[in-house]
Formats: sequence, C-alpha cells, structure tokens
Amino acid sequence: MLPIAIVGLGKIARDQHVPAIRADNRFQLTGAVDPHAQSGDVPVYADLPAMIAAAAPAAVAICTPPFARVAMAREAIAAGLHVLLEKPPGLTVDEVTGLELLAREAGVTLFTAWHSQEAAGVDTARDWLSGRTIEAVRVTWKEDIRVWHPGQEWILEEGGFGVFDPGINALSILTDILPAPLAVESAALSVPAGRSQPIAGTLALLSGDVPVSVELDFLHEGVQSWDIEIDTPDGMLKLAMGGADLTIAGESIAVGTNVEYPRLYARFAELVARGESDVDLAPLRLVAEALAIGVRREVEAFAFA
Ligand code: NAP
Repeated sequence: MLPIAIVGLGKIARDQHVPAIRADNRFQLTGAVDPHAQSGDVPVYADLPAMIAAAAPAAVAICTPPFARVAMAREAIAAGLHVLLEKPPGLTVDEVTGLELLAREAGVTLFTAWHSQEAAGVDTARDWLSGRTIEAVRVTWKEDIRVWHPGQEWILEEGGFGVFDPGINALSILTDILPAPLAVESAALSVPAGRSQPIAGTLALLSGDVPVSVELDFLHEGVQSWDIEIDTPDGMLKLAMGGADLTIAGESIAVGTNVEYPRLYARFAELVARGESDVDLAPLRLVAEALAIGVRREVEAFAFA
C-alpha cells in the first residue's frame, strides 16, 4: 500500500479524493494539510513539513485552489513524494513544465489529473470519432456558481480561472477525443465589476480546420448543461453530463458507471508502479490562450449572497 496524503482538504477532496483513495487497496490515506480544516477521520496538519513528519506519505494529492498548487508541488517533490495535481495543474504552462523537470530529476511520478477525461463516455467517444470526418463541434457548459461553488470567492479572484474552472473540464475532453490539435481563434469574456476572472465566455476554436464553438456560463439557473455535440456525416455524437452520458445519431450508448476519481487513482497507482509521469498541458494551454487574447467586457458585479 502506498501511503498518501491530501493537500487542501476542501470540497473536492472530501467529496471525491477521500472516498476514491479509501476504496482503492493500493493506497492508504495517512493525513492531510490544510490551513483551517479540523482533524476528523483524517488527521490534518498545518503545513507540509509537519504532515510529512507525522504521516510519512510516499505521495500527495494536491487539491488546493490552483494558485497554491505549484508551490506545494515543488515542496512535495523536493521531499521525494509522488504528486497528483488536481485540475487545473497550475496557473501557467511554464510552471507545470518546470515541475515535470523537477519530478524527473527527483525520480518521482507527476500526474496531471483531468477527471473529466475519465468520464464514462469519453473513451467510447474517442474510439468512434477516430478515422471519421468531423464537421463541427459545439460545447455548452452552463452551471450555477452559487449551487456548485458556494462561497468560493477565490474562483473569481486572480489565479482562480473564473468560468474556466469548470470550462477547462470541457476543454480537457476535447483535447482527449478530437484527432486534430486545438487552437483558440477568438474569445469574448465577461468579467464582473471588481473581479479579475470571467464569469462567462464565448470562444471560437479550430481543431485542424473544424470550427469548435464554446459557450461558458457560470450564472446559469435552471437545467444545467455540460454538453459536447460533434457533427459527423454519420450523425451527431453527443456527450452530456460532463461526459458521463453518450448518444450517437440519436441512440443512447451503454458506457457503464461514471467513476472518474477511482479511475484517476488507478492510473496514478499504475504510473507510480512503472516509475512514470503523465503531464498533459493541452487544456491549460487553451485556457491560457483564451485569457491572453480574449476581449474582456465588464458586467454587473457578482456576490455569492
Ligand atoms: P475548496 O472547497 O475551496 O477547497 C480548497 C481547500 O484548499 C480549502 O480547504 C483551502 O483552505 C485549502 N487550501 C488553500 N490553500 C492551501 C494551502 N496553501 N495548503 C493547503 N491547503 C490549502 O475548493 P474545491 O472546490 O475543493 O476546489 C479545489 C480544486 O479542485 C480546484 O482547482 C478545482 O478546480 C478542483 N475541482 C473542484 C471540483 C468541485 O466540484 N468543487 C471538482 C473537480 C475539481 P481554506 O478554505 O481554509 O483556505
């Protein structure tokens, strides 16, 4: 069993990482680092050195907000730990590339975990699209920030990614299933007054010469959409529910249970056992492009309550 600790014991750590680690007999959860969380069934320490001294992990899963991730990862790699990075893996492509070099020098595994790539329909979608002509792609990723991220002020602040926090999940699926590399052609971003990150955005991308439109909205009430539609001469492929449901030419395809985080930990265990890393920067690169070239428009101020 690989002793593993969590850094950042917040919503995603408690909802997904803790249960996935506990359900996998290749791992043993020995502790967590968090500035404010209380010790319950997981012992919590104030910083990484204190946690390493007490919990002696061989690996860490870094589940902090993205702005804290790379500094913690550097410290963990320097301590000889294997590292799983929640998405997005860092703020910039360069800082994660730097981590990859450090991990190689230290002889530890670095894994950029893109949970949506593990959604139940994604592998079948990729296989079906392979060798087919793709005519157009549409992404509709619309959710209510107040429902899914209550009180998470950091999301709309510097280094929080705004609506790209969920939107990067859609991009991670696209980079995984589309045969041709993607590039951002244009972006229009709506930034609430007094905030630094967008709360909605419209992107135009190209995958080879195929147009890809992306609609992102963090203020969407009512029915939530995490949908990708791909037109082909053989009919439309639709991934819904963030990749968990697959329909091809109007027919629902059986893809099994959606077990994104158990699959991520299975992959992490394999990488550690093989002494390998898996660093996928393609989704982060697209977000960086959109933020760099996007035309920003100030919109109404946003408050959680
Ligand atoms: P969250 O609920 O705000 O949790 C983040 C936790 O990290 C908090 O407990 C925070 O403590 C702690 N933290 C902050 N800085 C730290 C540091 N330097 N060292 C140790 N702990 C630190 O956020 P979340 O929703 O779990 O999201 C975290 C990451 O997971 C994000 O990158 C997000 O994209 C990703 N993710 C989230 C979801 C989701 O549905 N929420 C789904 C998939 C992936 P304080 O609150 O005390 O500052």
